[in-house]
Amino acid sequence: MTFNEIKNDEHQYMMHTYGRFDTALVSGKGATAKDADGKEYIDFTSGIGVNSLGYCDDGWVRAVCDQASTLQHISNLYYSPLQTELSKKLCGLSGMDKVFLCNSGAEANECAIKIARKYSFDKYGAGRQKILTLINSFHGRTVTTLSATGQDVFHNYFFPFTDGFDYVIADNAEDLKNKLTDDVCAVFVELIQGEGGVMPLSREFVSEVASVCSESDVLFMVDEVQTGISRTGAVFCFENYGIRPDVVTLAKGLGGGLPIGACLCNEKLGNVMTAGTHGTTFGGNPVACAAAAEVLSRVTSEDFLKEVSAKGEYIRSKLSGMNNVSEIRGMGMMIGIVTEKDNAKAVAAECVKNGLLILTAKNLLRMLPPLTITYEEIDKGLSILKSVMEENT
Ligand SMILES: *Cc1c(COP(=O)(O)O)cnc(C)c1O
Repeated sequence: MTFNEIKNDEHQYMMHTYGRFDTALVSGKGATAKDADGKEYIDFTSGIGVNSLGYCDDGWVRAVCDQASTLQHISNLYYSPLQTELSKKLCGLSGMDKVFLCNSGAEANECAIKIARKYSFDKYGAGRQKILTLINSFHGRTVTTLSATGQDVFHNYFFPFTDGFDYVIADNAEDLKNKLTDDVCAVFVELIQGEGGVMPLSREFVSEVASVCSESDVLFMVDEVQTGISRTGAVFCFENYGIRPDVVTLAKGLGGGLPIGACLCNEKLGNVMTAGTHGTTFGGNPVACAAAAEVLSRVTSEDFLKEVSAKGEYIRSKLSGMNNVSEIRGMGMMIGIVTEKDNAKAVAAECVKNGLLILTAKNLLRMLPPLTITYEEIDKGLSILKSVMEENT
């Protein structure tokens, strides 16, 4: 099929929920993708932070294929060693106590929201159900996670939205304290707002949230759907802030390309969710668990994490001398670039034409390269970006 045939069929048979770049990707290896016409692209996106090990990593492919030919799915009516081993690994890495396995970021966040409300209901009774999130946050596309998302543009059309959320100005401790009323059961934040434009929270604010939460038995929950699984140079971004949240949610990079999410909670919350209060048909699917186990076995060593930080630094240093770059934000290999000409969308589209896949977030350019990207691939991608940035300035 040619690109135009694919594009026409997409238009005819699929709901128009996505604004897509003009290319159809059909294969890939490492940080290089190929389109339907055989053209190659350096990939600085990893499918929005999903393909942690790049395209079709040998070990990952083996783990997935082996599991697919052993046992592809069982219901959650039965025990699964793949689920238990993955959960044990996640607890060991995070210091958390228990795990719920699901299929996406929004679902992991739904679980966090349910834990917060049930914990408070069990202990304090009805009426203490409000969850504070941050203005400019992103927590997903279900009706409830849209409510949790602190951006007005997401609060349209689908009324009525789930009640019980209020929004705090990021990095504003005063606003947090004003909104932390008696009916609040949790504060839920991204430590680096990803979709909101790669905005890291300040250490002071995060410590403040942690301490006011623990003083009033309000849960401190972090959405690490984008920042988690070694993206920022630590397995979990909360380690960079020297805090230990009550709840952590994961998805994107966890499965290395298969859909899996996880909600982790600490000891205090380990028994909040009981049989019948939550569940999902596909959650903890053996193939997805095998993929996640392979990812964790590869991206969590000290040496690997140092490499992620080093590559992030290398990219930053190369970007800092580049035309049209006015600010660089983020941590590790989660990088946002403010452009002088405020033309990120045009730059990203031009990059695709020139063989580079790169993301945007709000009016920024955003990079989430596969964690295993080589310096050679980085150089190749940056040289394409550089020439596009020069053309457009
Ligand atoms: C992508 C994202 C989500 C939503 O994840 P889905 O898998 O698309 O449901 C939630 N929170 C954050 C921080 C994200 O980046």
